[in-house]
Amino acid sequence: MLKGRTAIVTGSTSGIGLGIARGLAGAGANVVINGFGKPEDIEKERAGLESEFGVTCVYSPADMTKPEEIAGMVAMAEEKFGAVDILVNNAGIQLVSPIDEFPIAKFDQIVAINMVSNFHAIRAALPGMKKRNWGRIINVASAHGLVASPFKSAYVAAKHGVVGMTKTVALEIAEQHITCNAICPGFVRTPLVEAQIADQAKVNNMPVENVIRDIILASQPNKRFVEVSEIAALAVFLSGDHALSINGTSISIDGGWTAR
Ligand code: NAD
Repeated sequence: MLKGRTAIVTGSTSGIGLGIARGLAGAGANVVINGFGKPEDIEKERAGLESEFGVTCVYSPADMTKPEEIAGMVAMAEEKFGAVDILVNNAGIQLVSPIDEFPIAKFDQIVAINMVSNFHAIRAALPGMKKRNWGRIINVASAHGLVASPFKSAYVAAKHGVVGMTKTVALEIAEQHITCNAICPGFVRTPLVEAQIADQAKVNNMPVENVIRDIILASQPNKRFVEVSEIAALAVFLSGDHALSINGTSISIDGGWTAR
């Protein structure tokens, strides 16, 4: 379905990004993976994607807080593959803290990685997409791009920003066979959420089991974590030709959380 296409997936050495990279590679796309981790683990992932799916996969160590590295990642992909057809802005971090105690540097870092990096990547990838008259931009936002929770000021602000930026980009590129959409997952049990469970336990002075039952899954009516594979399947669908008319929207994949 995506044979001959090239995708960049930011923050794909772990969790949702890794799942999306696997999904896109499984559909035939060449993939640029990105993110932090042990070099041997990243190389295992890179080589594994190539051998499992018969695609070409390269790794970019670009730091999503550094605009010139983000632009360099896009330029590298265009040089290696001739195009960036699919851009998945997924890298993200979280910190749970009351706003009046929120560390300033951490707030800035969350906004930079979760929101501003999307701007830099889109800015760099869009000229090539326009030239080729085809493109897919998928921003991994969150249910927290649509609703709020206490103690997540930076994350909620950044993700609402991502949803707003998604709509703006969608309007700018609508006539050029390019789409820009946001995926808004509920809770997925990745390392990011494991850290949050621990943070929430601390902030609320509660045992971990109670945090999962009473805080994390309290918001999800279906009482289960979202699976990475479910998000990957949605990203693959949005990347296909049949998703051309889906533009500027935020697709919730949250078990009904934001239907409340
Ligand atoms: P994760 O911690 O498993 O993965 C985050 C990825 O981002 C890793 O590959 C990490 O190396 C990378 N990363 C972090 N800082 C980076 C930087 N400066 N430059 C480049 N890469 C960087 O987290 P996850 O749960 O898979 O989250 C992925 C995305 O999904 C995030 O945007 C997150 O906000 C969003 N999300 C997660 C959940 C959830 O419940 N896990 C729910 C909704 C949205």
